[in-house]
Formats: sequence, structure tokens, C-alpha cells
Amino acid sequence: MISLRGIGKRFGAHRALSGIDLDVEASSVVVLIGPSGSGKSTLIRCINGLVRPDEGTLHIAGKPVDIHHESAWQQMRTEVGMVFQDYALFPHLSVLRNMTITPERRRGVPRAKAEEEARALLTRVGLAHKALDYPSALSGGQQQRVAIVRALAMRPKAILFDEPTSALDPETIGSVLDVMKDLAREGTTMVVVTHEMGFAREVADRVVFMAEGQIVEEGPPDAFFGAPRHERTRTFLSNIR
Ligand code: ADP
Ligand code: MG
Repeated sequence: MISLRGIGKRFGAHRALSGIDLDVEASSVVVLIGPSGSGKSTLIRCINGLVRPDEGTLHIAGKPVDIHHESAWQQMRTEVGMVFQDYALFPHLSVLRNMTITPERRRGVPRAKAEEEARALLTRVGLAHKALDYPSALSGGQQQRVAIVRALAMRPKAILFDEPTSALDPETIGSVLDVMKDLAREGTTMVVVTHEMGFAREVADRVVFMAEGQIVEEGPPDAFFGAPRHERTRTFLSNIR
């Protein structure tokens, strides 16, 4: 579903990513881990068009994305969903409107249809009764569940998550992880940056470890956590457990 080859990105003199090769199979979950500043956010932002790589090739659903072409870039943003640490809901729009505005404007879905779909998605995550509230009236965990179903409402080919539970109170983290587990079970293609190692062990098909803008090591969770091959990976894992 997603294929990257030789992706590199500099910010000024700083090399944020170099030589990134990554494949994400359809219906699989890839968990991306690594120390702060290792390039995790930059990498997933390259996959949905928020950051433009300097070099390399990118395919989404088998189609090449021309990294130098603005409209190809825009298109990618409608095909790949993104969920941020800080939810990034539109504060001046109701929960329902947060969910319908982009499907209407970008995919041409009629308003009534978009609202029907949005209400069904809200029901799935236990938030139908919040449809007409503003985001500020919701808890962090509730806002993040809205952000996830808002991404789903675009029927994306994949959803990227950038530390989706890092800003949440411990007691609401579970409700967000449960929604993500449901999506995984249903076969949603997902790339998840997280420090939740329990989620990685349980849900990931592959764990990818990054350091200093490169992929150091990757593998299925059992092998990755059970017998990490690189010293850098072992050091990281021993510091977070
Ligand atoms: P991570 O998500 O793993 O913590 P990031 O991808 O956010 O890492 O950052 C990787 C490196 O790139 C860091 O050194 C960061 O300071 C730098 N960086 C990220 N975004 C920008 C930007 N827009 N401008 C300049 N430097 C950036
Ligand atoms: Mg980050």
C-alpha cells in the first residue's frame, strides 16, 4: 500500500532523514519507534504530503507520487489520513462539521450523506451524543477519537498516527488504543508512531526502529522485542522499559 525508496530530507544543514526504504503492506500495522529527534514525525509527514522529501521515490497503492508536483502532492493528502498528538480538530466547528467538511469539499460527498456517515462513525466510537458540541467541550480522549473517525470519513487508503496518545491522561489512553485496535482488526492499513510498547507487541505486524534519520532495524514484534540485533536498539529498549 505504501512503498518508500531512498527517501531523504534535510532541514538546512540538518539531515532529518536519509536512505529510508519502507514498505507497508495493505491491511498491515507498522509501528515506528525511536528516540526524540530521530525523524519519525518527518517520515510519516512525508507519507501524507505535509513534508516534501528532497530525494527518493514514493508509491501509494501502487501509484508513483511525484514529489515535485504540487497537485500530486495535494491528492496524496486526501488519500492518506493523519492523526496528530494534539488532535488538530477545527476549534470553531462542531464535531459533526469537523467530520463532514473535508469529505464534502475534497471528495464532493453531499452534505446529508456526509452527515449520515459521520454520525455512524461517531456511534462506533461512542460519541454520537457529542455531534453538535464544539471540540473544547470534549475530553482529550474524546477529541482524539473524533480525530480518528474524522480521518476515516475520508475513506483513506491508510491512516498515519503521530504519537496519538502522548498528550492524553493515563485513564483515557485505553479508549483511544481500543479504537485503533478495532481499526487494525478490520484491516485498516496503519503506520503508528508511539511509545506504547504494549500496543506495538499486541497489534503491530512489524516494528521499525529509527535513530538519527535512518531505519536501524525492523521485524515482527516477537523477534524485534525478544532478540533485537543492534546495540542501538537494545539501548533504546532498555531505557523505555
Ligand atoms: P521525531 O518525531 O522522531 O522526534 P522529527 O521528525 O520531529 O523527530 O525531527 C527530526 C529532526 O528534524 C529533528 O532534529 C528536528 O529538530 C528536525 N526538524 C523537524 N522538522 C523540522 C522543521 N520544520 N524545520 C527544521 N528542523 C526540523
Ligand atoms: Mg515526532
